[in-house]
Amino acid sequence: MRKLWINAEFVDGGRDPGRAINPATEETIGEYARGGLVQTDQAIRAAKDAFPSWRRVPAGERAALLHEVARRLRESQEQLAMELSLETGRSIHKNRGYVEWSAECFDYYAELARHYRGRVIPSPEASQLSLVLKVPLGVVGAIIPWNYPLLLLVWKLAPALAAGNTVVVKPATYTTWVSLGYHRLFEHFPPGVVNFISGSGGEVGEYLVKHPDVRMIAFTGSTEVGQHIMRLAADDMKHIHLELGGKDPLIVCADCDLEGAVGAAVWAGFLNAGQVCTSVERVYVDREVYDPFLDGVVALTNKLVVGPGTDPESEVTPMIRPNEREKVAQQVQEAQSKGALIHTGGRIPVDKTKGFYYEPTVLSQVTEEMLVMQEETFGPVLPVVPVMDFEEALLRSNHSQYGLGATLFTSDPKKVKRYMEEIEAGNVWVNDPLVDNLAGPFGGMKRSGIGRELGQEGFEEFFETKHVHWEINGGMKPWWFPWDK
Ligand code: NAP
Ligand code: MG
Repeated sequence: MRKLWINAEFVDGGRDPGRAINPATEETIGEYARGGLVQTDQAIRAAKDAFPSWRRVPAGERAALLHEVARRLRESQEQLAMELSLETGRSIHKNRGYVEWSAECFDYYAELARHYRGRVIPSPEASQLSLVLKVPLGVVGAIIPWNYPLLLLVWKLAPALAAGNTVVVKPATYTTWVSLGYHRLFEHFPPGVVNFISGSGGEVGEYLVKHPDVRMIAFTGSTEVGQHIMRLAADDMKHIHLELGGKDPLIVCADCDLEGAVGAAVWAGFLNAGQVCTSVERVYVDREVYDPFLDGVVALTNKLVVGPGTDPESEVTPMIRPNEREKVAQQVQEAQSKGALIHTGGRIPVDKTKGFYYEPTVLSQVTEEMLVMQEETFGPVLPVVPVMDFEEALLRSNHSQYGLGATLFTSDPKKVKRYMEEIEAGNVWVNDPLVDNLAGPFGGMKRSGIGRELGQEGFEEFFETKHVHWEINGGMKPWWFPWDK
């Protein structure tokens, strides 16, 4: 049984163990300790006690510790990828890539930490020195979703540690087993700098958010929970960083490479069974190319291999749980009852008697008031909508409570310029959706979140900024009391 890891020691959960389920087979793959408030308290105390000396560790030494995490990730790439496939159902092929990206992220922040710590600015007086200091916040609570248990953990941990904070990690319940194995990556750190707890979001997660000794909450998850966290964090004025849901649009212009647009829509709509925060969830296609585009998407979707992530051939893997699948099925049913057409999918595959599969689904004849066009669809569903032109597509794209990612397919630079300036999304892709670059910021606008991860911006989130005014010469100043009238 995998245990909690607090102050560099294994800790029991004090409750019945939790069972880790393989979504492809419904089998139990392992057990994990389920923690509660006592263990959460213990972890926060360990992180608080570790902070004063951790913040003083010289940058070079800290960088070496972070590079060592990257080395350990690469060393156990195969095992880490397989464990991820077992507990999330995801493609082993993609998971190998995620482990490598995670290693790169530690390397990146290790180096950034050596090069960046505020700046010296011009002073109003010749005898003064003005400094902008960046100091760590203290204890950071990291709350992680189940869809990318390693990558999204790393996007928080690497910059948080590089900045000199200590961290308490609360993984998602569905992916606790795999997450409680990650202590191995941090065994060379001083005790208490990184701690892994477990337990339900409503109990343990909320306790972490409310705890006065936690100075920042870095959260990735649903908009609903993010809003709740923001309200809770207000009492202590905690720093919050929220990466939330999306309803990402894809615009296909008549002037684009149509084959590329078809491939991109299918890839970005069905990767990880659509359980990606930035998966494409609405496609607006110029009327001129609507028919060939839709035909192409349906044909390509019908060729996708549906199967378990442990098989490298599988392209569409299972969903995480039957209840998540049911939410998606209900959105599709609602759309169908209001006149939407299902071109392919829209059901549980008949040949899959085990596993939480849902067929990749292509819809047309959808209207903006259907749930599938309004709410996040965390599953493999692609609604395709014809539009008059780029203007209509842009207007409709922005007609959403969300603003996470958005993609444009065109060969016209004039459209690209309009788009990049006016699309309401934090992540903008042109002719290639979902590409990652950890040197730049990732995050959302509107109800998709606050703050950015990755890049310089993602590092800044984990610091407090101070402005130091330093008078080198002591003594009275003419502008002090008493005034010289
Ligand atoms: P979720 O239900 O919001 O849960 C996310 C995390 O928050 C889990 O660890 C959960 O613990 C915890 N939690 C739940 N209620 C809480 C509370 N009251 N206080 C504190 N923590 C609480 O989201 P999910 O279903 O795991 O993940 C899917 C969502 O994440 C989607 O909406 C997706 O779009 C979003 N997402 C966003 C990004 C991004 O970068 N913008 C990336 C990936 C995913 P339990 O598991 O124990 O409930
Ligand atoms: Mg989605």
